[in-house]
Amino acid sequence: MAEPLIYELSSQGREGVKPPKLDVPVSELPGDLVRDELPLPEVSEIDVVRHFLHLSQLNYAIDKGMYPLGSCTMKYNPKVNEVAARIPGFTGIHPLQDAETVQGALFVMYELQNYLKEISGFAGVTLQPAAGAHGELVGVLIMRKYHLDRGDTKRDTILVPDSAHGTNPASTSMSGLRVVQIPSDERGNVDLDALQSQLCDRVVGLMLTNPNTLGLFEEQVVEVIEQVHSCGGLVYGDGANMNALMGIMRPGDVGIDVMHFNLHKTFSTPHGGGGPGSGPVGVAEHLVDYLPSPIVIIDEAESLEDIPFFNLYEPPKSIGPVKAFWGHFGIMLRAYTYMRMLGAEGMQAAAEHAVLNANYLLSQIKDVYPLPYDRICKHEFVVKGHLDEAPDIHALDIAKRLIDYGVHPPTNYFPLIVPEALMIEPTETESKQSLDNYASILRKIAEEAKQNPELLHTAPHNAPVRRLDEVQAARNPILRYKHE
Ligand SMILES: *Cc1c(COP(=O)(O)O)cnc(C)c1O
Repeated sequence: MAEPLIYELSSQGREGVKPPKLDVPVSELPGDLVRDELPLPEVSEIDVVRHFLHLSQLNYAIDKGMYPLGSCTMKYNPKVNEVAARIPGFTGIHPLQDAETVQGALFVMYELQNYLKEISGFAGVTLQPAAGAHGELVGVLIMRKYHLDRGDTKRDTILVPDSAHGTNPASTSMSGLRVVQIPSDERGNVDLDALQSQLCDRVVGLMLTNPNTLGLFEEQVVEVIEQVHSCGGLVYGDGANMNALMGIMRPGDVGIDVMHFNLHKTFSTPHGGGGPGSGPVGVAEHLVDYLPSPIVIIDEAESLEDIPFFNLYEPPKSIGPVKAFWGHFGIMLRAYTYMRMLGAEGMQAAAEHAVLNANYLLSQIKDVYPLPYDRICKHEFVVKGHLDEAPDIHALDIAKRLIDYGVHPPTNYFPLIVPEALMIEPTETESKQSLDNYASILRKIAEEAKQNPELLHTAPHNAPVRRLDEVQAARNPILRYKHE
């Protein structure tokens, strides 16, 4: 059943808003701004309200239920973050204002830089990048410039483990560098021998995700870093999984040279649906001069004795700005509020509970769904969505059937090294009841897979849209409404 579109609700002459009577002279708008041929819908206010409320109810969100989309850290976003982000003193400012008129905003950015340094053990942080993938690009460009600046021009290769997120090879290619893939060993760690065999004077660095995308802590992280450093390479940390580490382990302390954070994962702030994210990048001492500009500093020359003056600063060897103005300030405000509300102990507790929740959920389903690497997991884990007793059922069928039970499916078919992967990340914000509920649904679906596989093949049955033809959607995308 197709839903009526707002255009189809249109009824000639109906109005939503009655503007007040004009009390200034009429002036014409520039000609090409007014297009009479635009088929704008004529609707009343309540038509619009009902239309959009209805659309919002078709959507699934963390505010509606558990959202264990592995790697994405879909944790609950406390509403106080939204209150902070809507303070008029923040929403009403413009990035072109003079620093002296936006000291409060610069203060928040300065503090956030410092908190991220403290959490990660890095010497400098930029808040500019728009998301994790953008942070990776920044990190790789910094590593590249570091080598070039030293006259080390032979280096053109980034090593990327086969369990890495697809953004790692993509950022490498965008930086004009070559990707060499490093296999994982039978415990799911980077294979040290394979790594050793690729180390040479062409290596810019290695991109390392820890815990990796299997949700497993890299057991030889120190050796891996030592090996890469020994050939003159740097180590990039993909910090998307900091939710397992914050308050427990600092990547800078074990020798990671540069790393991005995903404020929209680890530090709450809403994401998904393409909303803005924020991917700050932290660097060790030897890379601080390469950070993108601007970063926020205390400007000693302008400061009074007891009042620091915050200013924007361009590091001497900066790779340059990577984002218009200062980055996504609204997301920074939310992350800052999240950190202030939790405090250091709260953040550590969040990480501990994220790991506890993942291990608990794993323990409730691992006798049913095959576990390729049987180890204690960190904040997420990967099982196979393929059961011996139901050979025709695939991870996708299980994911679609979960929708019928009113919960969000896990990530599927990633990481690529596990066939039929279901990657589950419950996050710390779920209660034992909601974890038990998810486990019991997964167990029920495994039973259905054996008894009535057709039920899974044709799922979802009660969602607003049934199973999509993904091939058609990719080949023949219809991305906008066309007026007939
Ligand atoms: C999410 C994620 C990224 C990319 O981050 P975005 O903010 O989505 O661009 C990179 N690596 C891993 C492991 C991730 O989970």
